[in-house]
This record gives sequence, structure tokens and C-alpha cells, in this order.
Amino acid sequence: MTSTPFAATVSRNPAAKTPEQRDAILADPGFGNHFTDHMFLAEWTPDTGWANGRVVPYGPLSIDPATAVLHYAQEIFEGLKAYVHADGSVWLFRPEANAARLQRSAHRLALPELPTDWFLGSVTALVDADRDWVPSGGEKSLYLRPFMFASEVFLGVRPSQHVTYSVIASPAGAYFKGGVKPVSIWLSSQYSRAGTGGTGAAKCGGNYAASLLPQQEGMEHGCEQVVFLDSTEHTWIEELGGMNLYFVHSDGSIVTPTLSGSILEGITRDSIIQVARDLGHEVVERRVSIQEWREGVADGSITEVFACGTAAVITPVGTLKWDGGEVTSGDGEAGKVTSDIRSALIDIQYGRAEDRHGWLTRV
Ligand code: PMP
Repeated sequence: MTSTPFAATVSRNPAAKTPEQRDAILADPGFGNHFTDHMFLAEWTPDTGWANGRVVPYGPLSIDPATAVLHYAQEIFEGLKAYVHADGSVWLFRPEANAARLQRSAHRLALPELPTDWFLGSVTALVDADRDWVPSGGEKSLYLRPFMFASEVFLGVRPSQHVTYSVIASPAGAYFKGGVKPVSIWLSSQYSRAGTGGTGAAKCGGNYAASLLPQQEGMEHGCEQVVFLDSTEHTWIEELGGMNLYFVHSDGSIVTPTLSGSILEGITRDSIIQVARDLGHEVVERRVSIQEWREGVADGSITEVFACGTAAVITPVGTLKWDGGEVTSGDGEAGKVTSDIRSALIDIQYGRAEDRHGWLTRV
């Protein structure tokens, strides 16, 4: 277990679920519906720094109506997973990368950076307290949601002088129950997710709020996800509302949009660069235009498209729809390159393949 910079006191939940109740949830957890018996909390002020790290019973937070986050959205979060291996041991996938991204997000939102040992210590302490909640079998996992928000009771617009950090955990079922199926994507022409100099590269709640209306529009057009273009030229592919994108070319090379400053730097995206190279693919980070996607799928130079993120790991993309047309890649199943990369990454996460890059941390 990672050593913690705080005496991680654990107050056991007297109203914890019974093993029977827990097993009923773990049999079919879905995503984001159920939460474990405990949560982690800590607070920051300029005087104390990060203090009072503790594991407490899961439950509501009492928030004053004038709490800054409710008005100005000074908030950031992370998402990562814990996996059970065949021998029953529990592992986190690249948690230091999430710690680093939370620090970058904190910087952009003028929040205090949480030191890496605090991040690792908090996540580890919660998973350890709720170890029995990590589901096993299939592609189940325990989804961890660290988050930080402006908790000062003050309506002035300036960085909060009281900040709360918390981690909650939610058992997650296999993203694809009936086998991996391609998603359809709506091209948002009217809205951008993020702009130059904005907060696109930070994992902050406001980015997701801005994506909901275009997401709704996409659903009205029968699509499951939305792809956003750059906000100035409306030409360059950025990412989906919650996933990064990859394009497989007929020569076997794999292309992902280069980090533009307004794209979220996905940890899955980064891991795929490595895993795909390990599998012998050439991986290129460069600008990709929406025209290249449309024409490449139509003329066969793009053979597979896939999206990636912690929740689904890798999702094949089928149809791209826009106002006035659509193109479909693949035949309704995941392509071979997509499937091979997906299996290689999942095998590392579940301990079925060698952890060549030192990505796993034992809890
Ligand atoms: N882009 C956005 C906007 C996201 O919300 C996510 C999910 N965190 C990703 C990409 C993928 O990131 P990761 O692979 O770290 O989950």
C-alpha cells in the first residue's frame, strides 16, 4: 500500500450495506448508479494547506447556498478504475497520471494543487476501506471519482479560500453487455466544446455542462455521441464529449488528433499510443480534419475509427452523421485493429498480460 502523507483515519459506516445487499448490486452494477459505503474527504485553506484527510461513511455533503462552486463552477474532477486480478488482488491503472492531470486542472481553475502522494493516498485509502466493493468477473471494475470544489461561502468572484477534496467510488459493470458494438457520432456544427485559451484541456465540470446541449441535439439525430471541432476554423477534429478519437489507416498506421490545448489529454489515449506501438503499429499525433474523416472512410483509406476513455476503454465508431449526410466505417462490428488494441490494454488492466510499462499499482 502507498504510504500516505496524512493519518488516514477511517470512520466505519454503521449503516454499511450487508454482504447480501452488496452482492446484489455487484451482480449488475450498471454505471454511476451505486456508491460504496465510504468516501474520502479533505479540506484546504491558505493557512492549513491540505489537511484533515479521512475516510468517512458515504453520505450527503451539507452545502451553504452561497458556496462558491454553486455559482462560479470552480470545480475539477478525475476518473480512474480499480480492477480485481485472478488471485483476488486489487490494482489501480496509472493513478499517477490522474494525479498529474488533476494538478494541471487545478492550475487552470485557480484551485490549490493536490500533491501526488495525497492523491494516491486518498484513492488507496478508500479502495482499501471498500475493497469488497471491487466487482470481479467480466469487464467489471470499481470506478473512482476524485473531485475538488470551491467550498468557501462567499459570492465575490475570486479563487476560493476554502476548498474541499473528495473521492467517491462506484461499482461499474461491463460497458458493453452484449459484446462490443460501434457507436454513432453526431457532428456538432453550431457548438464548440472548448476554445483557444479556454478550459478544454482541464477536467472541469463546466466543460461537460457546455457539451450537454449538443449531446441532446446528437441524440435527437439518433446518435449516441457528439464530435467537436476546433472553435476557430471549425475544421479540425478535437474529441467527443467524453472520449478521445483514433483513426486506423489502410497502411496499418494509427492517427489521433494532436493535443491542441483545448483537448482533454486522455490517459487511455496516451496508453494506446504505447500499446499500439508495442503491437507494431505506427502511431501518429497530428491534426485531422473532418473532411479527412468523411473522405477517408468513403475511399477506404480510413479502415477503422474508435473512441477511447476510462469508462469504455475502447469503443468502435460506426456512423458519422451531420446535417445533410453520413458515412459509416466497418460492418457493425469492431474492426480487427480496434479489437486487438482493446484486448491488449484490457489484458494489462486485469493482470492477464505483463505490465511492461509499470502502469499498475497494487492497493
Ligand atoms: N475527453 C474527455 C472530454 C473526457 O471526459 C475523457 C474522460 N476522462 C476523455 C477524453 C478520456 O480520458 P481518459 O482516457 O483519461 O478517461
